[in-house]
Amino acid sequence: MNLREVRNEAPLTSFLFSKASGMLVPLSGTFELSPVCNFSCRMCYVRKTAAEVKASARPQMTMAQWLRIAQEARKQGMLYLLLTGGEPFLWPDFWPLYEQLCRMGFLISINTNGSLIDEAAIERLKKNPPVRVNITLYGASDETYEALCRAKGAFAKVDRAIAGLKQAGVQVKLNCSLTPHNAHDLAAMVRYAEERGLILETNTYMFPPVRRDPDSVGQNDRFTPQEAVRCNLERYRLQYGEDVYLKFLKDVQRGAVPPPGLDESCIDPLDGKVRCRAGKASFWITWDGWMTPCGMMPEPKLDLANRPFAEAWRELTQCSARLVLSGTCVQCPNQSLCHSCAAMAMAETGTTEGMPVYLCRMVEALREEADRRLKDDQDVCGE
Ligand code: SF4
Ligand code: SF4
Repeated sequence: MNLREVRNEAPLTSFLFSKASGMLVPLSGTFELSPVCNFSCRMCYVRKTAAEVKASARPQMTMAQWLRIAQEARKQGMLYLLLTGGEPFLWPDFWPLYEQLCRMGFLISINTNGSLIDEAAIERLKKNPPVRVNITLYGASDETYEALCRAKGAFAKVDRAIAGLKQAGVQVKLNCSLTPHNAHDLAAMVRYAEERGLILETNTYMFPPVRRDPDSVGQNDRFTPQEAVRCNLERYRLQYGEDVYLKFLKDVQRGAVPPPGLDESCIDPLDGKVRCRAGKASFWITWDGWMTPCGMMPEPKLDLANRPFAEAWRELTQCSARLVLSGTCVQCPNQSLCHSCAAMAMAETGTTEGMPVYLCRMVEALREEADRRLKDDQDVCGE
């Protein structure tokens, strides 16, 4: 399998998004149905317990509210819909809502940890197939899942779900969040995906969980920037093979590649403005009814629980257009190697205008590692 497909979007989709961004049409939405999860991953940006949700100042959105928003968003142009959590299958009205949303004609994807997808769920998904089920793979053994997700026997359940979904013809993609707690399983996870013919998208950059804990700006249970880069280069080598990997390192030396492991749909801040789709063609709605440009950003946020979608979307596009990025990033000669964005700047520094030093260190480490490994390669080859 050519793993470069991992990040390539269908040309029609890219075309639709570029049109939608220009016209400020909300083509893509994310419904974060619930922050509750049966896992408790160490680096999670959203998870809450059921008791925390109950004690929250704002209630969870109801099925009627989600359906009202879906209807209004469809009138404004929403076509792509991602259902996420927490763990979306834990949201009590997941199935009736999902089946209604399917009938409304959206192209639906589901983000899940996969552990709750049993035979009954597979049957229902088979009847109303989503465009894709994105399963986050956290390791290649029950032990690794226990270390990172603090969930027992989880890998076996996820493995069964993946096999069942594949057998039922439901499209599956694997996402992997690499951290110090599961990095030792990297080669096994790459092999797992390859043996099953599945795309595996791997990230080593973990956002500080500022939505869950406002005091966590710039911090998470994650790699140092240098470790994040080393791990990412290793997964690049494993997934793409030695030749492509060496070419990639040479491109890094020339300063002419996007960095691996960050979201490719987020584009460099060339002019100090947010250039990704957030707040131009896409939006995120939190479990308690706030509309934001991106799920990683606590601000700007607009109360959608009791407000027409069209009005909130208009205001969101205006707020998003006003977001400004760090002047240092705008002038930075490393932009073609760095994917810092407004959400990262906010999570790393507390404001979109701050300079996300963690990202700067990743770029420095990427250059250093490329130099070092190419030199080692030359020494071995006797060049
Ligand atoms: S599975 Fe996802 S939502 Fe659940 S705790 Fe882990 S990272 Fe958070
Ligand atoms: S985060 Fe650092 S390396 Fe990246 S663009 Fe900003 S200043 Fe440059």
